[in-house]
Amino acid sequence: MSSDKTSGSDPRRVDEPNLVERLVGATKRTVGDALNSVDADSFYSVGDDIADTKAPAVPIDQRWDERKFNAKLVNPANRRKLSVIIVGTGLAGGAAAATLGEAGYKVTSFCYQDSPRRAHSIAAQGGINAAKNYRNDGDSIYRLFYDTVKGGDFRSRESNVYRLAQTSVQIIDQCVAQGVPFAREYGGLLDNRSFGGVQVSRTFYARGQTGQQLLLGAYQALERQIAAGTVEMHTRHEMLEVIVVDGKARGVVVRDMVTGELETHFADAVVLATGGYSNVFFLSTNAMGCNVTATWRAHRKGALFANPCFTQIHPTCIPVSGDYQSKLTLMSESLRNDGRIWVPKSGEDKRDPREIPEAERDYYLERIYPAFGNLVPRDIASRAAKNVCDEGRGVGPGGLGVYLDFADAIERLGRKTVEAKYGNLFDMYAQITGENPYETPMRIYPAVHYTMGGLWVDYDLQSTIPGLFVTGEANFSDHGANRLGASALMQGLADGYFVLPNTINDYLAAGPFAKVDESHPAAVEAVQAVHDRVEKLLAVKGTRTVDSFHRELGHIMWDYCGMERSEEGLRKAITRIRELRTEFWSDVLVLGQGDSVNQALERAGRVADFLELGELMCIDALVRRESCGGHFRAESQTEDGEALRHDDEFAYVSAWEFAGDGGKPVLHREPLVYEYVEMKQRSYK
Ligand SMILES: Cc1cc2nc3c(=O)[nH]c(=O)nc-3n(C[C@H](O)[C@H](O)[C@H](O)COP(=O)(O)OP(=O)(O)OC[C@H]3O[C@@H](n4cnc5c(N)ncnc54)[C@H](O)[C@@H]3O)c2cc1C
Repeated sequence: MSSDKTSGSDPRRVDEPNLVERLVGATKRTVGDALNSVDADSFYSVGDDIADTKAPAVPIDQRWDERKFNAKLVNPANRRKLSVIIVGTGLAGGAAAATLGEAGYKVTSFCYQDSPRRAHSIAAQGGINAAKNYRNDGDSIYRLFYDTVKGGDFRSRESNVYRLAQTSVQIIDQCVAQGVPFAREYGGLLDNRSFGGVQVSRTFYARGQTGQQLLLGAYQALERQIAAGTVEMHTRHEMLEVIVVDGKARGVVVRDMVTGELETHFADAVVLATGGYSNVFFLSTNAMGCNVTATWRAHRKGALFANPCFTQIHPTCIPVSGDYQSKLTLMSESLRNDGRIWVPKSGEDKRDPREIPEAERDYYLERIYPAFGNLVPRDIASRAAKNVCDEGRGVGPGGLGVYLDFADAIERLGRKTVEAKYGNLFDMYAQITGENPYETPMRIYPAVHYTMGGLWVDYDLQSTIPGLFVTGEANFSDHGANRLGASALMQGLADGYFVLPNTINDYLAAGPFAKVDESHPAAVEAVQAVHDRVEKLLAVKGTRTVDSFHRELGHIMWDYCGMERSEEGLRKAITRIRELRTEFWSDVLVLGQGDSVNQALERAGRVADFLELGELMCIDALVRRESCGGHFRAESQTEDGEALRHDDEFAYVSAWEFAGDGGKPVLHREPLVYEYVEMKQRSYK
């Protein structure tokens, strides 16, 4: 059942050739069929398994070179005849637009902000990983690969992760060449620090503003191409539909957010670099504008959506302080290098933390995980924080907080050193909470931060719609069930600067494709669908604000599809989301008109998509009856309450096919085969 009747018919062109058809049968069914019996009739159906067919069958350290060598090239003169639309100007999209522009392709770039450099990537604080081994502490490409596969709880594709580790080394060189001001050691080498889930120091950083500095680098490169005329930039334009012609992605429908005008743009290929969808939870550390619309619209047109329920909950965020709040603030993971996490041993202990003696504190991460201590991966740290709070030992209002204490670090290193490393983060904390973290421990609690799920892509970063490529957080590709800290920037820049520019050529070499313009039936239909949807939102004229629906959806998602999930809770959530979606379409109030700036209208469209995505996330979580990554499934735990994976049944990527409004989504599984890292239950003890 679905209440969204914005488009009269199933928007997919089922008669069109689809990559899914080419991918199924490429692999034997290797995943257990036990899940078929549980919910198949009520919520979803199971389709054929799929596989990535692009990674060459050679040893893993040769795959990327081999793929680059075998991919068809486009000679520089022909590149000028080929066009690419890139939606998104964060690290993934900005880097891709600059690189493809420099290569000579005709690029058209879109973002909804007023400047490409306001993309959400600018918020990234802590750093970016690379296997440079500057510290001579045993790091290597293989170790970064190993850590990432293990950190992702064995739910990512080995080929992609290995390539990511290989490419990491080039990223740092590229960014240094652009002038990104990474922190340096006294001797001049770039400095490194550690992030969770690893025992080496491989995180490059620019104070607590790494994303900002990296984005300025990409932005300058992009601006250079804009000035050179290879990139045409459209700010304040929101993409609301993909145009699919003869089975290929050939364009987009965008809304000019100032005039409300709907425009069509066409190209030989389309790239979505539109970021993650954490804001489905309403409260998250993401920028307020982050949304799922671009990828969700593509999903409705035939792109499979992979692992939608894999959400990262970050352990070090400033706790929620009240109902009025619409945004949560991250305290960078880098703080766990020097801060120690603890709660009082007794839940009754309400003293000022500075008055609680050492013997009465529980440094629970150091106690439970002595090998990694405060630097366990995010999922482990988040769940441990939740556990101590559930035991009644949480601190601060409502008992939903733990201490992150710098007293030892200040004594050991001196306040000046701590200030130099983390000063801007401490200032931010003081401004938000009114407490001085140099004198009293910070209070932190887990919050939604990143989405590992996204559109399914093959090794070439191509989705199941030919010609539609997806990069950065918008795709599902590299992080499995849990992303290690400082690996998102790495992936975004790897995709944008190095991977996509070496794979999209293989597709474009067959172009330029037949010219398409706005009179093509597929374009007319896409524009009409967007127009009808805008009109429908404006016509409801109900009584509830968009935000009130969003907030309620967020509560449902957090309660039932957050850190802990259960069959009963997820079923309840699905029912409630369906009801909420019906209420939305009959009672939402969107003031103003469509032909001018209208932020309520923008938000309404995004929340409508979140209301569809939320249901798929819960269905995905329902199917995955195992605990993996930060997703604790109540029915799947060891005797002592630890998370329990079920590799025999769930070692696969779940890739969902849209089955039309009211249809049951179809689950395609991509079995995950581990040839290089032995699958085992993770231990950070
Ligand atoms: C507070 C915070 C701190 C972080 N710190 C780190 C860190 O230290 N290290 C790390 O590795 N990762 C970090 N991350 C994660 C990392 O910042 C993101 O995963 C990454 O920046 C995403 O980059 P992106 O290019 O994929 O997308 P984004 O930067 O989100 O860019 C998305 C782009 O798409 C555009 N867009 C989206 N939808 C549309 C549409 N419909 N139409 C037109 N344009 C659209 C937007 O305008 C924007 O330009 C952090 C995240 C947060 C929230």
